[in-house]
Amino acid sequence: MGEERRRSPSEGNSGEPGSVRFEELPLHPSLHAGAREMGYETATPIQSRAIPEAVLGRDLVATAQTGTGKTAAFLLPILERTLDLPPGRVYALVLTPTRELALQAEEFLKKLGRHTHRRGVAVYGGVGLEPQIHALRAGAEIVVATPGRLLDLMERGHLDWRELKILVLDEADRMLDMGFLPDVRRILRALPRERQTMLFSATMPPAVVELAREFLRAPKMVHVDPTIVAAVGVTHLALPVPSYLKAELLREVLLDETMSSVLVFTRTKHRANRLAQQLSRWGISAGVIHGNRSQSQRVRALEGFRVGSHRVLVATDIAARGIDVEGVSHVVNFDVPHEPEVYIHRVGRTARAQRRGDAFTLVSPEEEADFAQVEKLLGFALPRAKVPGFAYDARPAPVREGGHRGEGRPRGRPRGGGRPHGRGPPPRRPGRREPNRPPGGRRSRPSSQRW
Ligand code: AMP
Repeated sequence: MGEERRRSPSEGNSGEPGSVRFEELPLHPSLHAGAREMGYETATPIQSRAIPEAVLGRDLVATAQTGTGKTAAFLLPILERTLDLPPGRVYALVLTPTRELALQAEEFLKKLGRHTHRRGVAVYGGVGLEPQIHALRAGAEIVVATPGRLLDLMERGHLDWRELKILVLDEADRMLDMGFLPDVRRILRALPRERQTMLFSATMPPAVVELAREFLRAPKMVHVDPTIVAAVGVTHLALPVPSYLKAELLREVLLDETMSSVLVFTRTKHRANRLAQQLSRWGISAGVIHGNRSQSQRVRALEGFRVGSHRVLVATDIAARGIDVEGVSHVVNFDVPHEPEVYIHRVGRTARAQRRGDAFTLVSPEEEADFAQVEKLLGFALPRAKVPGFAYDARPAPVREGGHRGEGRPRGRPRGGGRPHGRGPPPRRPGRREPNRPPGGRRSRPSSQRW
C-alpha cells in the first residue's frame, strides 16, 4: 500500500496552479450539475485525489475527517458507478458510526444525485423500524446505515446484497471506538466478495489498518492532513503587496462594506498595537488583543467586536486562541505566520458552521517562503489578486528626521481602489461610503506609520 504523493502547489491544470476545478473531475454531467448547485467550484484535496481512483472501481483507504469534503468524495463515485444500473436493487452500502452521519450522507445523496434516478435510504437505530422497512421495500439503490440497525434489518430479511458493488466504511476509527467491530465483521461477511471497498478514517490506529488488510484489496492510499478542515468553505485569497504598503492595502480592502466583522492577525504585539491605532486614525473602529493587554482590556475589546462597535479586531495568535466570535465575516492575515499550521487555525475563525467566509493574506516579497509553506500544507496554491486602482508602485515613505517613520501613505495614489481581481469580497455598492470613514469622505490623512 504505497502512500500517494502529495500534490505540490505548482501542479494541476486548472486556472489556479495546484487546485482542481470541480468540473475537471471525471464525473457524469448530471453529477456535475448536482455539485454545482451545492456550490462546489474547487475540489477539496480529498476529492481531487480520491474521486478519480474511486470511479475506476479501485479499493481506497483515505485518511480524512469531517469537514474535508469526504462525504462527496465517496458519494459521487457511488453515483457515477451505479448511474445506469436498473433501479430497485441495492448497489452500494455506506456504513457510518452515528445516526447524524447517516442522515447527513442521505441528505447529500439527495442533493448531489438530484439529477439522477438513484435513491438513497438511511437506516439507523433509536427510531421505529417500520418506516425504514417501508423505505427499503419502496426500493433504494444506496443504503446508508449504522451497523446495529442494519444487522437487525438484515436478520429480518429486509436486505438483499446480491447486487452489491460498493461498500464504504465511513469514519472507521470511530466505528471501532464505539465497539462496532463485531457488527461490522458480520455485515462484511454477508456481502459479496467481488466488490469495491472504500475506507475513510480520520486516524489509522492498528485496528483500522487490520480491518483494511482483511477486507480491502490493494487499496490506493490517500492521505489528507486532518488540519486542512478549515480549508473547506473558506475563500482564500492572497494579496501580494510590498510590506510598507500593507496598512494602506488593508484600508483599501476594508472599503468593502460586506467586511462587517474582520479579525486581523499580526505577527507581533507591537504591530497589532500600531495597526489598531492606525486604523482608528483612519476612522475605522478597531479593538486590539494581545498578550500584554490586561484581562479586562481583552474582554472589553472582544465585547466591542462581538456587539459590533469595533468592526475590526486586531490580534496576535496567542491572544486569539480560544476566541470564539460568532459571525466573523473575514479573517485578514496582515502578516504571514511563520508556522503554516497557524494559518489553518486563523482561517478556522471564519466559515464556522459551514458559512462561507473569506480569508485574505497580505503577502510581502519577504514572506513568500513562509507563504509557500502554507500552500504546501493546504495542498494547493491560493489564488492571488491585486486590488484594482491601488498604487502598488508607490514608493516607501521617507523616514522623518528625529527617527520617526514618515508618512505611510503612498504618494500619488489614485482614488478608487475596490475589489481584488478574482474571487474576493463583492464590489461595493456605488454611491455608498464605507461606514467608518470620517465625514467628508477624504481619506488622504497621512498614516504616521511605515510598515
Ligand atoms: P464533509 O467533510 O463531507 O462533512 O463536508 C463538509 C462540508 O463541506 C459540507 O458542507 C460540504 O457540502 C462542503 N463541501 C464538500 N465539498 C466541497 C467543495 N468541493 N467545495 C465547497 N464545499 C464543499
